[in-house]
Amino acid sequence: MSIKTLPDFWFEPRPWMDGQWHPGGETVTVRNPATAEKIAEVSRADAATVTLAIEGAVKAQREWREISAVERGLVLKRTAALLLARKDEFARLLTAEQGKPYAQAAGEVEYAASFFQWFGEEARRVYGRIAAHPEAGREFFIEHKPAGVAGLITPWNFPLAQGAKKVAAALAAGCSAVWKPAELTPLIALAIGPLMREAGLPDGVLQIVPGRGSVVGRVLAEHPAVRVLSLTGSTATGSALMIAAAPGIKRLSLELGGNAPFIVLPDADLDFVAEQLTRLKLLVSGQVCVTANRVFVHADAEAALAEKLAVKISDARLGNGLADGIDAGPLIHRQACTEVGALVEQAVATGARIVCENRSYESDATSRDGSFFPPTVLTGVRDDMRVARDEIFGPVIPLLRYTSVTDAVRRANETPYGLASYVYGRDLAQCRAVASAIEAGIVGVNEWRPLKAEIPFGGIKQSGIGAEGGEEGLREFLETQVISMPKPVIAS
Ligand code: NAD
Repeated sequence: MSIKTLPDFWFEPRPWMDGQWHPGGETVTVRNPATAEKIAEVSRADAATVTLAIEGAVKAQREWREISAVERGLVLKRTAALLLARKDEFARLLTAEQGKPYAQAAGEVEYAASFFQWFGEEARRVYGRIAAHPEAGREFFIEHKPAGVAGLITPWNFPLAQGAKKVAAALAAGCSAVWKPAELTPLIALAIGPLMREAGLPDGVLQIVPGRGSVVGRVLAEHPAVRVLSLTGSTATGSALMIAAAPGIKRLSLELGGNAPFIVLPDADLDFVAEQLTRLKLLVSGQVCVTANRVFVHADAEAALAEKLAVKISDARLGNGLADGIDAGPLIHRQACTEVGALVEQAVATGARIVCENRSYESDATSRDGSFFPPTVLTGVRDDMRVARDEIFGPVIPLLRYTSVTDAVRRANETPYGLASYVYGRDLAQCRAVASAIEAGIVGVNEWRPLKAEIPFGGIKQSGIGAEGGEEGLREFLETQVISMPKPVIAS
């Protein structure tokens, strides 16, 4: 079996500030979750370093906002092109650091590039308007302006794409940004610093500060120069950030946790459902905010769907994502395995049944030290079980029976979350009606991965505020100003 190697680093494992590598403070070891091998020792930013980064971003923003939108867009589009040209290196680094299989990592690099490309194009489409004034001889100019310095905080599951969504939108809007990647995956973020410099980004416009959420997050939340805070993370972190940002009345853009329902309508093609659901649940081994968390299936179809899923899940190849042909990698760390395991145990203890578990990684000695969890299919899951109520964040497929579609929709909505959801069926009118009734920011109808740069994606209820992607993604980083003034008249 051939194993891909780590690329040579073109970056240093410490904060990237003002176009240079900054010494940083305490160090932390980054390990490959598939093997527990050390990849790098990363210096973190302490509070004083983050403050310096913000000050540098304030200076850089004064010039960046004055550059034409076309020029700003060009830098972003060049970043997209550079990322695609170096897809292999970025994908190998991403797999080593995060654990997802190489093919999924390459897909994430393309997905990240699509946001640089999209916002590179959107940069020139910030339209104001002139509005009628109620008094004669006057008019209103309504303008959208860059908000200032943006604080960007990202999680470890899509450490490149989540950063790309925020960085591209903030910079397209004319903001500068201070980006804090997740503690467990700082390398792929640092790798972007020199790449954007090569694309023509002026120094200081993007500062990348690895560090602890409690330290870097607090400084970003409290520093008066940071005007927008954009977080992708758990709902608990979103709530903590809101509280920390409250005294400074900062704008917030929050992409938080989910508990996506996946409704299989009675007329659905079960082979198609099994194929799509398996792909969805094996993506990043289920550690995805939009993954299916509760699969509602008609009671008459539960056994058949479980059987088809068992075949697909058993066929999946698990292991080190740098090896060829791997379908699913490890979880991010051992603690994650313990937590997902506890959800499965509680479900089984209260009446659910394990139909299939794929432990194929156990035969591979090199994954002995990795944090693998067996992809699992559960039947007989009830709404009150923790596996249905909590965000699982692992490759577990819980099947919940229903007898009436109306009831399935009601149960699907009985969650404080409202991020993604899925509806599968042959009758598109019925699919459309069910999709409209679901309380979620996005609904995939017969589609397991509807997220694209072209559309706004964001949660409702406790899944967040605001959106990323689409034209809406840019607005998160713009402020509106109205100028009310007399209409000029021709001087005679
Ligand atoms: P997390 O909330 O623990 O961490 C996310 C980021 O927030 C990290 O960079 C972390 O260091 C930082 N952070 C932690 N405490 C902080 C604080 N007090 N102040 C400021 N920053 C702080 O989440 P995670 O474990 O990295 O990621 C998993 C979670 O993210 C899941 O709940 C998942 O659903 C969610 N997520 C949501 C989306 C989305 O688009 N809605 C996408 C991916 C992940």
